[in-house]
Amino acid sequence: MDKAALAAGRVPGRVGLVAVSKQQPAARVKAALDAGQTVFGENRVQEAQARWAELGRDGVELRLIGPLQTNKARDAVALFDVIESVDRERLVDALAEAQQASGRGVRALVQVNTGAEPQKAGVLPRDADALIARARGAGLAVEGLMCIPPQEEAAGPHFALLARIAARNGLSELSMGMSDDFETAIRFGATRVRIGSALFGSREA
Ligand SMILES: *Cc1c(COP(=O)(O)O)cnc(C)c1O
Repeated sequence: MDKAALAAGRVPGRVGLVAVSKQQPAARVKAALDAGQTVFGENRVQEAQARWAELGRDGVELRLIGPLQTNKARDAVALFDVIESVDRERLVDALAEAQQASGRGVRALVQVNTGAEPQKAGVLPRDADALIARARGAGLAVEGLMCIPPQEEAAGPHFALLARIAARNGLSELSMGMSDDFETAIRFGATRVRIGSALFGSREA
C-alpha cells in the first residue's frame, strides 16, 4: 500500500486498511488483531455477530461491506460502526429507523454499481446523487462511497467514476480496491482499501 501511494505521488501511510475477515478461520483473524489491526470488514450480519462475540471487539471498528436486507437493519446497526453497502431507498429508511430506535448513530457509505451490472448490488451511477441526498436527509452520517468494479474490466475507469461522484457530492471517503486491484485504487484516490485474501490467504468454502 505504501509503495502504491509513493508511486502515485501520495503520502504513504494515509490509506486505511480494512481487513476483510469474512469466511476466515478465527485463528487468522486473531493473528491480525494481535498484530495491531483494528479495522475489519464483514459481509454477513450473522456470521459477523458470531465471530466477533467470540473474538471480542473492544477497540475494533467493524464495517459491513456486503449486501444488507432491510429486515437485518437493526442487527446491523447494533453491530457495525460503518455500513458501506447502502444502496437503495428502502435500506436508507430502514437504517434511519433502526438508528432512531437504538439511539446508535450509523456511519454510512453509499455503494455505487459503477459497471451497472444487473447481478451486483449498488445504486446506479445516475441515481447516486439522489440516494446520497436521501440518506443525508434521513439523518445517516454519509462519509463517502464504495464500489466493486466488474471483474472482467479495467478497474481504473470505475475508480475514477466513483471519485467524480464523491467529489460532486462533497464526500471524502473512497472505499475502493481489493486484493487484486488495490494499487490501482490507491492511484485513483482510495482512502481505504478492503483486503481479504492477500492478507489472510484464501477463504474457507
Ligand atoms: C470479499 C470482499 C473483499 C475482499 O476481497 P479480496 O479479493 O479477498 O481482497 C472486498 N470487498 C468486498 C465488498 C468483498 O465482498
